[in-house]
Amino acid sequence: MVDLKAWLSLQREKGGLRSLRPVLRRGKGRLTLAGDGERELIDFSSNDYLGLAEHPALIAAAQEALRLFGAGSGAARLMSGDLAVHHELEEAVALLKGKEAALTFGSGYMANTGIIPALVDRHDLIFSDRLNHASIHDGCRLSGGRVIRFRHNDLNHLEELLKEKRGTTTALIVVESIYSMDGDRCPLRELVQLKERFGCLLMVDEAHATGVFGEHGGGVIEEDGVSDGVDLAMGTFGKGLGSYGAYVAANREMIDYLLNRARSFIFSTALPPAVAAASLAAVRLVRQEPELRCELHEKIAYFKKLLRNGGYGADLGPSQIIPILVGESEATLNKAGLLKTQGIFATAVRPPTVPEGTARLRFSITRHHSATDLSQAAAALLKIMD
Ligand SMILES: *Cc1c(COP(=O)(O)O)cnc(C)c1O
Repeated sequence: MVDLKAWLSLQREKGGLRSLRPVLRRGKGRLTLAGDGERELIDFSSNDYLGLAEHPALIAAAQEALRLFGAGSGAARLMSGDLAVHHELEEAVALLKGKEAALTFGSGYMANTGIIPALVDRHDLIFSDRLNHASIHDGCRLSGGRVIRFRHNDLNHLEELLKEKRGTTTALIVVESIYSMDGDRCPLRELVQLKERFGCLLMVDEAHATGVFGEHGGGVIEEDGVSDGVDLAMGTFGKGLGSYGAYVAANREMIDYLLNRARSFIFSTALPPAVAAASLAAVRLVRQEPELRCELHEKIAYFKKLLRNGGYGADLGPSQIIPILVGESEATLNKAGLLKTQGIFATAVRPPTVPEGTARLRFSITRHHSATDLSQAAAALLKIMD
């Protein structure tokens, strides 16, 4: 049994102890921290990239569902919790992702820890990008399969490993399309070629891409035109879609299989109707209003331009997630603290979320940020990174 007291004090010393602190949302991407008076901070740590969590269409859809169907779904989908709104949502998601069918899960964590073990057993192989999200790692571990990690976004390394280890059993390649802590993008077209050459399944986690990339918001798989080549397009409703829950889109056969085999789907209560209805409204909105996405991308480009013009030389990446590398945890926490005094809330991302020595400030740009917000943040950031 771990010595709790010793563990906690060691973490505290190392600057690695996390704690919870409630925020008060002020709308339009602003928040106040509990115990911090009335001071408003501009939130640069939200994954609500399109600002949909506050969108009237989502709120109205949730309210209507709440009124008609109550607060909870009452049971798992395979029991009596299966509501029409879940099916409508799955149809809308399948359309968005360019796949035949879809299945919803309680959360992205549950999707990844349910899907991967349903497909892979201890005789099989998983080729997993080293920087994949914890929920993917946990899904891999739960499966009991042999996990072979390849260097981040390094397809030469993946190819070498495939040549050496592929064998004849089931093999799954799993990646993210936009990496959550680095903001970079995986080379999907090349991955599809590799998976076809080596006869693997390809699963792509689009948690940070759905709604943000692709002509209709279908993610990088839409933008790169590879929906057909991706066997499992997983993503969440809790980020760019402003709601909560998750999905996987695939062919009908795969979905029929998963709803019979994914334990986190089978043994868990269906999404509440209000949540499913809000997600459905979001999926429709991102298809119908590409302006939302355009506006976001203009803001991302503007913020990056400000940083570059201010002399920030490091790579700012291709997405709304902008990692500002600092190195050590404590230095990163200090910088986050300094930003806070300037009215900027950005998270210090530290190990174990990212590898040792790569602690960083993670800026995410959302549609809430005004030009003034962005220049205020860029100025504050340039000052502390000097
Ligand atoms: C956030 C995230 C998840 C987990 O999704 P939740 O719905 O928050 O549980 C899974 N994968 C990636 C890449 C994520 O960023």
